[in-house]
Amino acid sequence: MSFSIGIVGLPNVGKSTLFKALTKKQVDASNYPFCTIEPNVGVVAVPDERLDKLSKLNNSEKTISTTIEFVDIAGLVKGASKGEGLGNKFLANIREVDAILQVVRRFNDPNVVHVHGIVNPVSDREVINMELILADLEVLNKSLERVNSQMKGLHDKTLDKQKILLEKIKSNLEAGKLMSEMELETEEKFIIKSFNFLTLKPMLYAYNVDEDEVNDHPTDGIAICAKIESELAELDEESAKEYMKTLGMEETGLNKLIKESYRALNLITFLTSGPKESRAWTIECGTKAPQAAGKIHTDFEKGFIRAEVINWQDLLDCGGEVSAKEKGLIRLEGKDYIFQDGDVTVFRFAN
Ligand code: GDP
Repeated sequence: MSFSIGIVGLPNVGKSTLFKALTKKQVDASNYPFCTIEPNVGVVAVPDERLDKLSKLNNSEKTISTTIEFVDIAGLVKGASKGEGLGNKFLANIREVDAILQVVRRFNDPNVVHVHGIVNPVSDREVINMELILADLEVLNKSLERVNSQMKGLHDKTLDKQKILLEKIKSNLEAGKLMSEMELETEEKFIIKSFNFLTLKPMLYAYNVDEDEVNDHPTDGIAICAKIESELAELDEESAKEYMKTLGMEETGLNKLIKESYRALNLITFLTSGPKESRAWTIECGTKAPQAAGKIHTDFEKGFIRAEVINWQDLLDCGGEVSAKEKGLIRLEGKDYIFQDGDVTVFRFAN
């Protein structure tokens, strides 16, 4: 499964422009049977030069990228948590995604009205975050009521813990803090996981900037120019590269976004490669070998024996598997091996 990113932000900040640009080149759905393509959902391939190089090295018939899903979630306005605008329906959409990408307007253009009359990234962020916080507070208050009524006359350690935790979170939310910014312990995160709070999801900020600020590096997010992204999406690869050069642009918005999402979601990529296909797989940091194998097929996980692993660059430097084996660079790893970003692997398993 690919992971999904929900795009939110005030009206007229450039969400749809960015969504259309990012999802212009959608993946071929036949290679990804799990994809359900809806109008506000776009599934795109994660560009990965390692995969392309391995595919070339092994002359693979097919090259299959890992994917990322973008969901355009319009309708989040001031008062959404109270049903304003498209209200709760859209908050429900946010519940489904793995991370939230908040587009914040920084571009100045007198022809594009700002819903609050003035370009002010800080206050725009606060408006959106406050709606998400209010929605979480509603869920949290109901949960607290439930816990309180269950506790009547009972001394239950689990309920006690829940109550203390919910009250701690409540006071933080009321102070305007997102749950993703709170310092929560692993056990606390586990307790609240089932509540599916919105502000617990990683929040990425994409500042939609003017053309001349496209190489900015904001401390708390990324700079993107939706206008340029939509122009780039219309061009073929070569022309896009040329255009980026004339703009002095270091990286595409899509690349920046993907890097930032992988970081926020704690994801890495491992690769498989042979004459039939080269393929990239996304896993969480810290995943052990059998579970990584299970990404490919449940049988691989159940019957896992070992993984043969080499770093992608080492494999490339050797010019192929045979020479890498001769040089002793292919390691045999057991079930406790933790996969690393850029590992190329073959799994051995028993049926
Ligand atoms: P949404 O309501 O957030 O989805 O915003 P849209 O994507 O529909 O954009 C609103 C208006 O802003 C449109 O007229 C866009 O052409 C314009 N717009 C979007 N991104 C940029 C940008 O980076 N620079 C400028 N100047 N205009 C933009």
